Amino acid sequence: MSAPNQSEIVMDCSEFQQKLPELFEEHADLGKEEHLKHCENCAALVRDLEYIAQQAKLLLPIHEPSPAVWDTIQSTLQREQADTDGRDPSDTAPPAR
Ligand SMILES: [Zn+2]
Repeated sequence: MSAPNQSEIVMDCSEFQQKLPELFEEHADLGKEEHLKHCENCAALVRDLEYIAQQAKLLLPIHEPSPAVWDTIQSTLQREQADTDGRDPSDTAPPAR
């Protein structure tokens, strides 16, 4: 490899920021990122993103119904369908309990 050693260690800002969503998805340890040690600009950006991600995590459970909620909704619908008419028995699954 004839590329200068420096470019392997210190990443370009845009290069690093392109990688950021990936790092967040993988829950990577951003403290280990070399670029953040050298670049205050990107370090501040990461702090902002971490704050936003934290807020999103706090909000998500409210918008995302738990499996128990879906279970209740599904069993209620099945019971109501069974009550109305047995128009197509093969369409409705047999009761689990
Ligand atoms: Zn940077």
